[in-house]
Amino acid sequence: MDKDQSSLSRSKLVQDLLDSYEKYRRSEITSRRFTQSEMLRWLEPMIRSNIVRATDLGRSAEGRTISLYTCGEGPTSVLLWSQMHGDEPTATMALLDILNFFALHKEHVVTKTIQASLSLLMLPMLNPDGAERFMRRTAQLVDMNRDASTLRTPEAQILKAVQHKYRPQFGFNLHDQEPRLTVGSTKEVAAIALLAPAMDPLRTDNEVRLKAKKVAAVLAGALNQIVPGHVAKYDDTFDRRAFGDSVQMWGTSTVLVESGGWPNDRDKMYIRKLNVIGLLTVLHSIATREYETKKTEDYESLPFNSKNLYDIIVRGVEFKGAAGIPAVRVDVAINIEEMNQEPDRKRLMAKVVDIGDLSPYGAFEEREGKGISLDLSDIQLDKQVPWNDLRLLLK
Ligand SMILES: [Zn+2]
Repeated sequence: MDKDQSSLSRSKLVQDLLDSYEKYRRSEITSRRFTQSEMLRWLEPMIRSNIVRATDLGRSAEGRTISLYTCGEGPTSVLLWSQMHGDEPTATMALLDILNFFALHKEHVVTKTIQASLSLLMLPMLNPDGAERFMRRTAQLVDMNRDASTLRTPEAQILKAVQHKYRPQFGFNLHDQEPRLTVGSTKEVAAIALLAPAMDPLRTDNEVRLKAKKVAAVLAGALNQIVPGHVAKYDDTFDRRAFGDSVQMWGTSTVLVESGGWPNDRDKMYIRKLNVIGLLTVLHSIATREYETKKTEDYESLPFNSKNLYDIIVRGVEFKGAAGIPAVRVDVAINIEEMNQEPDRKRLMAKVVDIGDLSPYGAFEEREGKGISLDLSDIQLDKQVPWNDLRLLLK
């Protein structure tokens, strides 16, 4: 197949996977907050119908079983691990959708090609204790993605043992990044950021990393087809404590996938869909070895993540001064967070994070501030308040 033809068929594949997504999405997953027991319940029918095989590997610090889920019989092994950070569940949902795709579309060319050529090794939700609390760190309060070097935590030991045992040729390190990051100098949200992690402080390329860059280029191409201009590159500073960097160093061509943000997508359902299409496309391209024809520049030319975005900007609000302070017309930036702890879990809290000329910044929601006047005494910078209270002031 010549190159034009292969990229044409790849773009058709991306479109087909996108168009049919609703049919293979696991519809019972409706929130990004779920526990390991829920995930195990979703995996159970996949195990029963032999879509995946489960092998227990050990226990998390709090005693939850961590299992490896394998599928495919091919000679090339690909390791995919998700949710080392308990509050980063997007790719875990995506892996479940992908298994469902295999279950429902056994005769699909993507399923058949992947299963014949690849052995997929999946470690969904590597930090189940953190997921239970929807927090980044493990039950021992360690960031397990800074434990690749010393391997003090049971979860890190499990990941290292799998890499060591199977020596996979390819790896996908699946995370969520801060949802308000942007692409380069634009105001466009980074829906997904990619990285072929460095293996040393000089960011040297060898065959392993060059392959990872080609794989990242396939992923970037597929995602840019769906959300043009919304794919960024993640910070490539080397950190040997981070698993992506270490796994690359240990000989597995590894790509970090960081799920970012999207307007009105607090539960990351749209970003989950992007993960599914991107991962299925890239796995297919590894299976056919089509990725070998990609140029590393297609990855390298991605703009880095930047920080030009807020949740809400109200443009041109009148800020009324008090006690001798004159009024001023300004833009106001607000970020909104979900509370994490009971009894207020999921309650929305807001923070005014900047005031002034915010023309360089974008927002998920831009509001016209004409007609709104805020009293200086009602606003505190960087202080969290209930979103409902602040919202009333912006009427
Ligand atoms: Zn992470």
